[in-house]
Amino acid sequence: MPPRAKPPLDILLCAPRGFCAGVVRAIDAVERALTIHGAPVYVRHEIVHNKYVVESLMRKGAIFVEELDEIADPGRPVIFSAHGVPKAVPADAAGRGMFAIDATCPLVTKVHREAEIHHKRGRHVILVGHAGHPEVVGTMGQLPDGAITLVEALDDVERLAPADPGNLAFVTQTTLSVDDTRGIVEALKARFPGIVAPHKEDICYATTNRQEAVKRVAPHVDAVLVVGSPNSSNSQRLREVAERAGCPFARLVNGAAEIDWSEFETVRRIGVTAGASAPEVLVEEIIDAFAARFEVRVDTVTTSSEDVFFPLPRELRGEAAE
Ligand code: SF4
Repeated sequence: MPPRAKPPLDILLCAPRGFCAGVVRAIDAVERALTIHGAPVYVRHEIVHNKYVVESLMRKGAIFVEELDEIADPGRPVIFSAHGVPKAVPADAAGRGMFAIDATCPLVTKVHREAEIHHKRGRHVILVGHAGHPEVVGTMGQLPDGAITLVEALDDVERLAPADPGNLAFVTQTTLSVDDTRGIVEALKARFPGIVAPHKEDICYATTNRQEAVKRVAPHVDAVLVVGSPNSSNSQRLREVAERAGCPFARLVNGAAEIDWSEFETVRRIGVTAGASAPEVLVEEIIDAFAARFEVRVDTVTTSSEDVFFPLPRELRGEAAE
């Protein structure tokens, strides 16, 4: 009997997708620190929210901890993750005499500095973001307790009761849904017309561009697969954006092994993207896995191009590193 023909499948690859400049910098920082200082190098929190990346770095000699007091050898370098840390963390590291390297994404640092400036000017800061996310913990930890109020949803805006409603400013997490945040910001401005906004959007270029590409693809496919970890905020947002843009069948997977193939039997067109912390090798694995089951045709849908680059943290550059 001739082998059964594979069913056809069109794959629309979203571009841009995957690694952003902040993630590349953070991973490079760990690798460079391992090259310069040897293993082990400690990393506080997952350097970026991706299991594959974390496991690869662990194999090279990185040890991941959640808090500084878990570090067995305080003489070794410690790197702070791309999400940023509360001010108390570098102060604690300095107090313990540790060699700390800050891999906080410069676009997160920009939000930290904005919050600080507002505070210095006597404004109460509203942070739009998700409670408990390390970036939110880091941003709130730039100011003294009570100087920042977190707003997660529209309802929270109604509940705000600031002591001085005429003296407010807002900042946002970098990896939020562009559309949801627009609604929250409009509500803030409607309730507090004098509220001071960021000069330049806090949601970063990578989050915005990846959401834009998914919005273009989602209405034209039967399913969207987002490659990323469940604790990656920008990956979760990509899945939601796909659903809202007209593709109710959207799944977030760490990699090909997590695909439930029974769900894809009748799918003939699929969109594929990857969160800012997901490496391209995982996207390639997924395409290979589909190609083993379908006659695939791959097209790329490009909505913007990116050429953002961030230099390594100072301690790891050229002479300073020597
Ligand atoms: S998603 Fe944006 S803010 Fe986060 S690391 Fe990447 S570029 Fe920086």
